[in-house]
Amino acid sequence: MINMGLTERDQRVIWHPYTQHQNMMPPVAVLRGEGALLFDENNRAYIDSISSWWVNIHGHAHPYIAQKIYEQAKCLEHVIFTGFTHEPAVRLAERLLPILPGPFSRVFYSDNGSTAVEVAIKMAIQYHRNLSRDPHPPSTLLAFRNAYHGDTFGAMSVSERGTFTAAFRDYLFDVQFIDTPNASNISELKNFISSRAGNISAFIYEPLLQAAGGMHMYQPGPMNDLLAHLQSNGILCIADEVMTGFGRTGKTFASSWLSAQPDIICLSKGLTGGTMALGVTACTPQIFDAFLSEDKTRTFFHGHSFTANPIACAAALASLDLLEQADCAAGIDRILDGHGKFARTLSAPSLKLPVKNIRQLGTVIAFELEAGADGYLNQAAHSLTRDALESGIYIRPLGNTIYLMPPYCITGQQLEQVYDFLLTWLQQKTGKP
Ligand SMILES: *Cc1c(COP(=O)(O)O)cnc(C)c1O
Repeated sequence: MINMGLTERDQRVIWHPYTQHQNMMPPVAVLRGEGALLFDENNRAYIDSISSWWVNIHGHAHPYIAQKIYEQAKCLEHVIFTGFTHEPAVRLAERLLPILPGPFSRVFYSDNGSTAVEVAIKMAIQYHRNLSRDPHPPSTLLAFRNAYHGDTFGAMSVSERGTFTAAFRDYLFDVQFIDTPNASNISELKNFISSRAGNISAFIYEPLLQAAGGMHMYQPGPMNDLLAHLQSNGILCIADEVMTGFGRTGKTFASSWLSAQPDIICLSKGLTGGTMALGVTACTPQIFDAFLSEDKTRTFFHGHSFTANPIACAAALASLDLLEQADCAAGIDRILDGHGKFARTLSAPSLKLPVKNIRQLGTVIAFELEAGADGYLNQAAHSLTRDALESGIYIRPLGNTIYLMPPYCITGQQLEQVYDFLLTWLQQKTGKP
């Protein structure tokens, strides 16, 4: 083993996520990270333009977060969270609740985005069961077509039935799917909801940005209308802000762009600045109160071994500290500006670039290649990842959808390097110099 590189050792023993191991591109062995950069075994730097699967917001190996993790690990690494509590968990809830987009009063901890969604779904279902005198309370969940809420069974069930879930189709529970709202379909959507309202318990949505479904963006106006209509029909609204939380969309939460507020919110990814796995599901007093009873069967029977892990909570607290600093807001503004200018360049008629549907929400910019069908299995953009790596940039398209979602600390120069690479690459695609 001594002379074998990390990549070769990996290929003997590791099974990677979302990876077809037959003919896979050998994984890049990353030795360290700093700011927006990742360094490989040969000390080659790569700009992480997708924040390592959308989790990293302050940059890699941030010394402040690292210090807080170290201090917490020396003090208390973990303790059972039934019958015990600790400062990092309580402090994090105290700091999150006032900034969340809605009248939330309780935080339930879990391990990642998928578990935050599972907890939300179970809370919503049991809320109706606990309150209802009817032996058959509303039992249908509503979700958007093209949604992605995670890879566990409940989360898969409320996600688009497509490439990711096809193998498990027969094992997923039934969910009613609707289109994202716009000016022309909103009346139809509201009529549909009115006709089914008595049987729908909850609605789950990615506010304004359906990320894994292809960075699909939709407008706040009709969404406000839809959420208000759902809530007036007694349907609980669950905002999945696992990806959109903590500044991604240019506001602290995507729901901050909306006037209608959710009853439950799911957080993960950027929660710890992308350093540790942690999930949060927060709810309103109305939901929490429905679980208070002398009747033990109304208890929320859910928990994980690592619920509210103190080190993860300490990382989240450190990430919130950084998020409140002026540097962070300045970084977000720099990306907003850069993406805006890049979007104008991409759409310049004189360049005739082979792209379509150029769109931006906050620090996320996305577009499709004109050639070829859309969809995750599209190979048109496949060579992009390889070509980008050769230029010292990490980009990972979603099928035919190319997008950028950098950490907020990315420098102006690094951003320019990414934009320049993409422009040159696209121009080569058209065969122009
Ligand atoms: C990534 C993601 C999830 C799943 O989170 P994991 O931590 O990968 O389990 C859920 N919802 C949304 C919107 C996501 O982007």
